Amino acid sequence: IDKEVKENAANTDSKNDDGVDEQISPAEKSLLQKIIRKGLVETTQDIEIQRKDPSSPLYSVKTFEALHLKPALLKGVYAMGFNAPSKIQETALPTLLADPPQNMIAQSQSGTGKTAAFVLAMLSRVDTTKNYPQVLCLSPTYELAIQTGEVAAKMSAFCNEIKIKYAVRGEEKIYLSFLFCVISVSRGSKITEHIIIGTPGKVLDWAVKFKFFSLSKISVFVLDEADVMIATQGHQDQCILIALPKLHRNIKNEYFKLYTCLYLYLNLLKHTTYRQLPRTCQMMFFSATYEPEVMKFAEIIVNNPLIIRLLKEEESLDNIKQYYVKCKDLDEKYAAITNIYGVITIGQAIIFCHTRKTANWLAERMTKDGHAVAVLSGELTVEQRISVLDRFRAGLEKVLITTNVLARGIDVEQVTIVVNFDLPMDQNRQADCETYLHRIGRAGRFGKSGIAINLVDSSHAMQLCKDIEKHFGKKIQYLDAEDADEIE
Ligand code: ADP
Repeated sequence: IDKEVKENAANTDSKNDDGVDEQISPAEKSLLQKIIRKGLVETTQDIEIQRKDPSSPLYSVKTFEALHLKPALLKGVYAMGFNAPSKIQETALPTLLADPPQNMIAQSQSGTGKTAAFVLAMLSRVDTTKNYPQVLCLSPTYELAIQTGEVAAKMSAFCNEIKIKYAVRGEEKIYLSFLFCVISVSRGSKITEHIIIGTPGKVLDWAVKFKFFSLSKISVFVLDEADVMIATQGHQDQCILIALPKLHRNIKNEYFKLYTCLYLYLNLLKHTTYRQLPRTCQMMFFSATYEPEVMKFAEIIVNNPLIIRLLKEEESLDNIKQYYVKCKDLDEKYAAITNIYGVITIGQAIIFCHTRKTANWLAERMTKDGHAVAVLSGELTVEQRISVLDRFRAGLEKVLITTNVLARGIDVEQVTIVVNFDLPMDQNRQADCETYLHRIGRAGRFGKSGIAINLVDSSHAMQLCKDIEKHFGKKIQYLDAEDADEIE
């Protein structure tokens, strides 16, 4: 399999020498969004609620005090700078913390406070008098698991007695080494931490193969990023196996591929003894999207859930002033960029290029000229991307040069200028209006304004600009890039 993956990667690379196609995995997209975002995404939408028994009361809170958290936990929440619950938290938290525990499926776009909500619920459910894992949280990747763990560590800063363990690559060495140790605890070496945050494969190994902990003692099961999870090869099956591992012995693996059959089958089994996680285990599913696949998957595992949903605020160009600058050639484009760079006194800018080659060329030239710029493109490793975005978010560079990797979901408060070094176009060289909107549009930003500048260096680019203008019915004005006053 490894060989095949490598060959495929090699093929893709050779096809995309220029790096035009900057496809990244949903898991990575989600990670980048988490890193680049500073605070909550505000929304004006209302919560939609679905439940089996509409007459049962549903609570909502406006303060964290109203949740009657343990004082040390409340202190942790405030220390994180949270003053009041976000919209999704207002409705989710009372249910997540209720007794008897209730199952929940929650969907809202990235940045609306889901992670903080379930982490708070996880922490408040821990019984520190018992030294074994009680809370299990599955994340799609190593990096996302670490992100969640860091939130949990911060929020529990004043609850020293709560211990968290990562079930991710590399971690089990500590336990496996016990096997060979004189003072060892054998294969059955047990985890004493209260919370396990990990990826499905590792969790499955730890629980089923090595028996480092017992699934039957888990009282809270969280599935984070359910949408990313099912988009990741094999994770769907692993999650099902964790929730319902006894099933594994009874049906052959191939059956998992017959998804519809399985769906019906599992629904039948949901109420039988096949469930490995205890019947009383509270299930929490979180997702940034609301595709039918995610819901089907959730329904396999989650019994009688309260389903809450917060619709995404549409991106719009309403508060964006759009301009175009005419440039004869690449040198003039470069000159326009340096003029723009010169007038950015407050805020930050993102420059979008069509290919990695252009992005790298521009970054090198600007760096040579003594400008502090960051560059983010498809060929970087996950660690490199994290570090580039961390620096940019911290304001160490005023300008971020990128390709389409970041087109979606940029939500850095301080980004006030977006420059299209190249106008976005699709494979047929037609205007790509959707990408244009993702690059410069803003969602739910309550009147915060921004500027978009398009560099036009050919009649084709001018045509793209006109097509985009027509598509959105919003004027893109001419700007003289030589005239610094005008830019300001
Ligand atoms: P999601 O999981 O939906 O992507 P997060 O829980 O990661 O959202 O929250 C997004 C950002 O908002 C994070 O930086 C987080 O620290 C912050 N945040 C979450 N809840 C609150 C709150 N109640 N008040 C202020 N900031 C919050």
